Amino acid sequence: MEYAIEFGPQVVLPVAESSKLFPVGRIYCVGRNYAEHAREMGHDPEREPPFFFMKPADAIVPSGATIAYPTGTKDLHHEIEMVVAIGKGGANIAPDRALEHVFGYGVGLDMTRRDVQGEAKKMGRPWEMGKAFDQSAPCSALKPVAMIGHPAKGAIWLKVNGKTTQRGDLSELIWNIPETIAYLSKLITLRAGDLIYSGTPAGVGPVNRGDRLEGHVDGVGDLSLTYAN
Ligand code: MN
Repeated sequence: MEYAIEFGPQVVLPVAESSKLFPVGRIYCVGRNYAEHAREMGHDPEREPPFFFMKPADAIVPSGATIAYPTGTKDLHHEIEMVVAIGKGGANIAPDRALEHVFGYGVGLDMTRRDVQGEAKKMGRPWEMGKAFDQSAPCSALKPVAMIGHPAKGAIWLKVNGKTTQRGDLSELIWNIPETIAYLSKLITLRAGDLIYSGTPAGVGPVNRGDRLEGHVDGVGDLSLTYAN
């Protein structure tokens, strides 16, 4: 087969302690999945059904990168999240079978143009340009389930220039990982290679040029990212 145009390479993430790469398919993100974050965004954290949005696979940025402050915003925000990497696809997955579909976990950032998202919300328009822009999905190397199991509790935090801004615990997820996979798989057929950004704890805030971000999820690992001056 020959393509009619030049086409970019498959987006991949490294797998920890392995020479193998994880091919990234689609990126799904869960909105407002920690109660304190729902409150800080002005919503009642009552257990309403989870909702999802997407980012393109090529929004992935590997840990350790230095990247440019994005265009089109004056209010870039960080959202530290645990990332679930799907190893086996499926539809209508039962919660008690959901973890069988997980390849592994990573530490990710759902970078957000908060001003653009806010304007979209106000106008009743789609969120994409606030969420699904270039380099908006930094992610660490993935740790396979065989190495770390399925983290369900433990600290998740983010530091900006050494100062802790976000802090929570995986046990505080409103919709836990099996429930999230089950719910999403009723809406779309999950495929091997899909990533799910599982939501962010409270403390989201602005990122400026020159800032260094360090994220951590207990049992999963660390992520670092620097914005160029
Ligand atoms: Mn998020």
